[in-house]
Amino acid sequence: MDTHLHAHHDEVIGIKADAAARTHVSVERRQAMVREAAVDPNGFWGKEANRISWMVKPSKIKNTSFHDDVQIKWFEDGILNASVSCLDRHLEEGRGDRVAILWEGDDPSMDERVTYRELYNRVCRLGSAMRRLGIGKGDVVTIYMPMIVDAAVAMLACARIGAIHSVVFGGFSPDSLASRIQDGNSVALITADEGRRGGRSVPLKANADQALLECPTVKHVIVARNTDAPVNMHPGRDHWWATLARHADPVCQPEPMNAEDPMFILYTSGSTGKPKGVLHTTGGYMVWASFTHEVVFDYRPGEIYWCTADVGWVTGHTYIVYGPLANGATTLMFEGVPSYPDNSRFWQVVDKHQVNIFYTAPTAIRALMREGEKPVKRWRRDSLRLLGSVGEPINPEAWLWYYRVVGEERCPVVDTWWQTETGGILISPLPGSVAQKPGSATLPLPGVKPALVDNDGKLLEGATEGNLVITDSWPGQMRTVFGDHERFIQTYFSTFKGMYFTGDGARRDEDGYYWITGRVDDVINVAGHRMGTAEVESALVAHPKVAEAAVVGMPHEIKGQGIYCYVTLNAGEEPSDALLAELRNWVRREIGPIATPDAIQWAPGLPKTRSGKIMRRILRKIAANELDGLGDTSTLADPAVVDDLVANRVM
Ligand code: ATP
Ligand code: MG
Repeated sequence: MDTHLHAHHDEVIGIKADAAARTHVSVERRQAMVREAAVDPNGFWGKEANRISWMVKPSKIKNTSFHDDVQIKWFEDGILNASVSCLDRHLEEGRGDRVAILWEGDDPSMDERVTYRELYNRVCRLGSAMRRLGIGKGDVVTIYMPMIVDAAVAMLACARIGAIHSVVFGGFSPDSLASRIQDGNSVALITADEGRRGGRSVPLKANADQALLECPTVKHVIVARNTDAPVNMHPGRDHWWATLARHADPVCQPEPMNAEDPMFILYTSGSTGKPKGVLHTTGGYMVWASFTHEVVFDYRPGEIYWCTADVGWVTGHTYIVYGPLANGATTLMFEGVPSYPDNSRFWQVVDKHQVNIFYTAPTAIRALMREGEKPVKRWRRDSLRLLGSVGEPINPEAWLWYYRVVGEERCPVVDTWWQTETGGILISPLPGSVAQKPGSATLPLPGVKPALVDNDGKLLEGATEGNLVITDSWPGQMRTVFGDHERFIQTYFSTFKGMYFTGDGARRDEDGYYWITGRVDDVINVAGHRMGTAEVESALVAHPKVAEAAVVGMPHEIKGQGIYCYVTLNAGEEPSDALLAELRNWVRREIGPIATPDAIQWAPGLPKTRSGKIMRRILRKIAANELDGLGDTSTLADPAVVDDLVANRVM
């Protein structure tokens, strides 16, 4: 897209002087880090490696190449155990009585505080019990849990004994669970009787039983009691967690792991197709989780930190469990949903637990924005100091609402761009040292080298737009697609030689800031003008009556592709022909005549992955009237939404 079309988004929200003075990373410090990481990566990351505990400190730091035989090794002669950095170390250093996990139930009257010492004890008992069952280093263990403390305990217990965990989101169906268990060849499954979400119960054990009919590799099932609902227990295969733990050795020696030994598998959200089993190893991942959690969230000891993701997604892995716990933080774990018992739940929890740092997704922000300011203003939120966003491009309108209404212009907003594959955040402002622009993830973290290339892989300079690649490795990078190294090379390293391809498109402005324009598969080409979906969607969302929008290309005789928009209105707004015309003109004015929508469909809901991302590939099929073969829809949150959109398609 031509750059003049974007001018109106480039509002700069300055760094507040007082915030800058108090943050970890000052402007000068950031510049020094960026320089050092670029000039001497071995020196820089060798020092940063000291932020976690090692049994044997690494002497070799970076050994990576994106060329020919892709090779990614970090800290390769180091020996460690991830759980030691998250637990033992804090006990040794006098933090045993600090709250590690602050749990808030779906039911607002339920909460729990688990100290580092209690967490350590729970992890050790489960680890010992798993060892007694014969589970050990290199075995894959699937975790299918609600958002309860035991989910984190299960992950850490796997890490402790060197088992590779594969967490499957508790909202997935038996089929989705089965395919992930099969893909990983799991030997064990850890689950609970039931989960709770939004006042309803989720039959996890029953789902697991159904899935396991097709999963002969699973020899053991460990079941946590959560709601106390009656469940079937298969003798020999199923074990009550509590019974195992009661008889288990309270001492559980941490398994020595090489830095490059696998730590976990996690399947991507499935926005673009069949989910990929992303494999992360131990040393690099832990360094990246700890480093990014500290610098991006400007974490300070004693603060209450809340990431609203589910442990079933990478955000939950890195920024609920491993990053915060490695840094000795108090991490809030929330079992519920933002709309239960009502739309002010997030802010009620913020006040109740005096949350300082709050990290959520654009989908939640847009849903709350739709309900207006009232539910937010019912609560004080004066403990909040920093706000974060992840998962999709955040429309400038939603960014500003988050900044002004939720944060009262007091809290910096960190729009963090990253992927399951990257292990942690790659592009984000560092609060206090990077001026913010609503809608831009801003600048790469120290040691991260993004670039934009054209479709032939030619590097583009200056202010421009193109395919977002990363030209050199960072410690948190995935190492392979589990069981399919060929797919790893194909997906990430074959499109552009010698570069990691993210699959996303981005624009870079005059200040070097990155603006993610969406997935390149979603790019629309109108009469030769390439357009990212994010820009058109943001223009629509900027209209006062629009809550959310998804934009896709549709076949068009003259222009090649036309623009098809799905629009969800704010609560209380009614669709009308007048509004339709108004929206067409609005987009035309906001972006330019080339972006004028060809079709607008009123959408009461949009198809989203279970992690809340808009699935444009399905919307593209509906717009093109290709209704058979909507592709892999197993990761869809609510299939009924699709039926409604199909029934009401326009043109
Ligand atoms: P799949 O790879 O299976 O299609 P997915 O890409 O949705 O699924 P994730 O790894 O959960 O799986 O999501 C990463 C993607 O989310 C990024 O590639 C990007 O498209 C989007 N994303 C995440 N954070 C941001 C952000 N801050 N701004 C813009 N886009 C973001
Ligand atoms: Mg992806």
